[in-house]
Amino acid sequence: MTQTLDRPGSDVGARVEQWVSSFQEALSARDVDRAVSLFADECYWRDLVSFTWNIKTVEGKDEVADLLRSVLDGIDPTGFAVSGEATGADGVDEAWLRFETAVGRGTGHVRLKDGKAWTLLTSLDELKGHEESKGENRPKGTFHGADPDRETWKEGREREAEELGYSRQPEVVVIGGGQGGIALAARLRQLGVETIVVERNERPGDSWRKRYKSLALHDPVWYDHLPYLPFPDNWPVFAPKDKIGDWLEMYTRVMEINYWGSTTAESAEFDEAEGRWTVKLQRDRGNGPEEVVLRPRQLVFAMGVSGKPNRPEFPGMDRFRGEIQHSSEHPGPEGYEGRKVVVVGSNNSAFDICGSAWEAGADVTMVQRSSTHIIKSDTLMELALGGLYSEEAVRSGVDTRTADLTFASLPYRIMADFQKPAYDEAKVRDADFYQRLREAGFDLDFGDDESGLFMKYLRRGSGYYIDVGAADLVAEGKVKLVKGQLAEFTETGIRLDDGTELEADLVVLATGYRSMITSVADIIGDEMAERVGKVWGLGSDTTKDPGPWEGEQRNMWKPTQQPNLWFHGGNLHQSRHYSLYLALQLKARQEGLDTPVYGLQPSHHAE
Ligand SMILES: Cc1cc2nc3c(=O)[nH]c(=O)nc-3n(C[C@H](O)[C@H](O)[C@H](O)COP(=O)(O)OP(=O)(O)OC[C@H]3O[C@@H](n4cnc5c(N)ncnc54)[C@H](O)[C@@H]3O)c2cc1C
Repeated sequence: MTQTLDRPGSDVGARVEQWVSSFQEALSARDVDRAVSLFADECYWRDLVSFTWNIKTVEGKDEVADLLRSVLDGIDPTGFAVSGEATGADGVDEAWLRFETAVGRGTGHVRLKDGKAWTLLTSLDELKGHEESKGENRPKGTFHGADPDRETWKEGREREAEELGYSRQPEVVVIGGGQGGIALAARLRQLGVETIVVERNERPGDSWRKRYKSLALHDPVWYDHLPYLPFPDNWPVFAPKDKIGDWLEMYTRVMEINYWGSTTAESAEFDEAEGRWTVKLQRDRGNGPEEVVLRPRQLVFAMGVSGKPNRPEFPGMDRFRGEIQHSSEHPGPEGYEGRKVVVVGSNNSAFDICGSAWEAGADVTMVQRSSTHIIKSDTLMELALGGLYSEEAVRSGVDTRTADLTFASLPYRIMADFQKPAYDEAKVRDADFYQRLREAGFDLDFGDDESGLFMKYLRRGSGYYIDVGAADLVAEGKVKLVKGQLAEFTETGIRLDDGTELEADLVVLATGYRSMITSVADIIGDEMAERVGKVWGLGSDTTKDPGPWEGEQRNMWKPTQQPNLWFHGGNLHQSRHYSLYLALQLKARQEGLDTPVYGLQPSHHAE
């Protein structure tokens, strides 16, 4: 959205001030009708844990009224005020807000049209009395004085490692120690919530290290910071996967995370009466696996939204004389120089793998099964991300938290409308590029409603390629393109449903990943998994995101149909941002605060 500040002296500020004070007065008077009258007919209120103990968007005046009637007395909001300067453009006034509730402090954001709220964001920043020890309140780190029983920091950490999970149970167990589990655990540590992260790989960062050799992050550095410890100014724009792996390993150590590597979660059962989980693990501390049972109150799955490979079975796989790999197992193109590589799929992994196989001198064919959205990386950065996440944004004072909250302030229902113009512009700007791809026979799309990459990611987590060069290989015919469905394997390659045969020494199935709930079901059982339902997607009724409309990511970072069971993950940006709200929800429960959940989502879809 272009932002042109109104002239100094204009009444944007006065209009916003007027709205905010009327809103606070109505809330204080518990006058729901009056509060609702301050919203436009088309309105959206997105709350991140501060009013609803949920991540919830209500739409329209009736839903706003229902929310207020349900929560107002318990939440007791006070002190709504504008923070910073209000701005106005294109008939929309907007401002950052601050407010308090009975138990916390929050940040808000409002957009007004004709003096009425069109969008409102409310988000919880911290819990009163449980603030993080930082700034002036940072820990001292040592004890000045004399103490014959002095325990050094290192000794304390070693003792913690010995005791936690054995003689003392953690409050939270996080299953999955990728960047998601690690970021959440860092937040929980700062909030004093004892946590163990369980990871089947040996070391933090291994989930990146084990991916194909050529992988570098597709998202730029400004979008990728972890909580508390941003990347340094000389960090590359697109970090190579092994560098990210090393950063995560360092981060885990310096953030003092209790990280159990080489540990696999096998099962988890919830004891309703006791309010505790029984989590059975196989932990290898160097002498072979041994069973360890943990009894946390809260269980978080952070096993990767793209965690479980979708590995379809095809007839004839056993007779194929070459090698078959899912893209998640593909190490790189070594040894395939001059040999035939067929990659089934046409999204990010497929393009990356085709590109590096071609660079290594392989004879490469891509099999496109369905249309793909392609956006050039430079174009994406400039048109879609740059306003919030770029060097320029940093220079103009948009810090990461402001960028994250600005993004969060856009309700999902209308987000596609905000996204579409960037992609309309990309179509014009890169018309020649798209034309060449079409001429090569490539099936392109921009999403069901032309809203592009980010909406596809939020809705289905698949169906796109951020082009870093491999698309040209397809356009130029250097990587051959064949369209169709894989029907079967032959001894020497694959056959498509139209009878086309392709010879191959290596077939890479770049066939994507399955919903996290499918791997979680192996641990919590099918009955509980079905009760919880699909993880991810908005319910937009677009391809691979079946309705009904949820308006938030299904089951992510918020209460689920199973008490004390949570999901965390997403890309680095989401993991950074939403780990705060999940951590605050867990902290509130540890402290025994009343956390009535407004609008608990019903369960939808098994996968
Ligand atoms: C090829 C590829 C490229 C990507 N590029 C980007 C990018 O540029 N930017 C971006 O933000 N995201 C990218 N992603 C998305 C990426 O998956 C996530 O950002 C990131 O990996 C998610 O972190 P996570 O911690 O949620 O999941 P993961 O990294 O998948 O971690 C989940 C962890 O759970 C562990 N686990 C699973 N089951 C068990 C069990 N039973 N017991 C113990 N541990 C278990 C796994 O070993 C794994 O380490 C990419 C994904 C892929 C596949």
